Amino acid sequence: MFKALLLTQTEQRETKAALEELQETSLPDEAVRVTVSHSTLNYKDALAITGRSPVVRKFPMVPGIDFAGTVVRSASPNFKAGDEVILNGWGVGESHWGGLAQQACVKAEWLIRKPAEFSAREAMSIGTAGYTAMLCVMALEERGVTPRSGPVLVTGANGGVGSIAVSLLAAQGYEVHASTGRPEEAEHLKALGAADIVDRSVLNAAGKPLQKERWAAAIDSVGSHTLANVCASLRYGGAVAACGLAQGMDFPGSVAPFILRGVSLIGVDSVYAPLAKREQAWKRLAAELPRTILQRNTTETGLSAVIPLATRLLEGKIRGRVVVDTAI
Ligand code: NDP
Repeated sequence: MFKALLLTQTEQRETKAALEELQETSLPDEAVRVTVSHSTLNYKDALAITGRSPVVRKFPMVPGIDFAGTVVRSASPNFKAGDEVILNGWGVGESHWGGLAQQACVKAEWLIRKPAEFSAREAMSIGTAGYTAMLCVMALEERGVTPRSGPVLVTGANGGVGSIAVSLLAAQGYEVHASTGRPEEAEHLKALGAADIVDRSVLNAAGKPLQKERWAAAIDSVGSHTLANVCASLRYGGAVAACGLAQGMDFPGSVAPFILRGVSLIGVDSVYAPLAKREQAWKRLAAELPRTILQRNTTETGLSAVIPLATRLLEGKIRGRVVVDTAI
């Protein structure tokens, strides 16, 4: 038997979440079985657990788009019992049983080896949010953005993606401006490396198609009016890596920044990013992310506390990252 969060759907299509004891025989029949030591609570997991968005493709579902653990058996030559692995995305926790459980059974090609520099807990305090932040940094670099380009804005700065993005950019020497709706967390953001705090209320209402040129680049996990205003406020030739929809999925902007200032809007997806890109992102996280920020930026919890935390996360009340120790 093993413990897992289990999502079911009622006849009225309401999602029910409960901590259950499941038989190991109920696990999906895939090549690699992993004992999960740590998982995380991401924005998408919170949507799945609360049923707020149709993230889950089939029920019953074990949520959890991330996990770290140890291989217990493998039918793949790429992994053997005892290997330490991590998983991010690939539809796990959406259409395939996920990481908010003590056991998981997954395809070998979805796994990557855990970088030796991180413990399983540290890897999950980065998780999909942090790995996506690194993909955003890499996307900006591919557009030629460097610390000399000028200040870089990070929106949703107190969230999982935002907080790691602030830390990564600051560690590389960027002047980071952090946009947040929680000014009381300004000191925390400055400790992560933010040079300036921007009140998110100046960005999250409808704005003009072209505004004062403020930032050389941006990482946006918020979408909607915020993303439109960010595009309108980028300097000539600037770029924004867009990965999220915490404010909304809409994009109520105009083409003006693209055709009059040569601004680039770069989409970033972590779920189906190719293996080589994932490995590169994790290698860079191991080399560049200051370890000291992980402790400060992480709340640790157990499987039984995840359900109420999911609601708090969607209310924007969780700072940074949540690590789930499956033994608690
Ligand atoms: P979090 O909930 O940890 O953080 C989101 C942050 O966004 C909040 O902390 C808050 O920051 C800000 N925010 C929330 N609501 C609003 C609002 N109405 N208006 C403006 N800002 C708001 O989530 P994550 O950081 O884990 O994820 C952020 C987004 O990125 C989500 O939409 C998620 O689905 C997406 N994502 C996408 C990935 C991809 O592959 N493309 C991968 C990972 C995440 P503050 O309090 O500082 O204002």
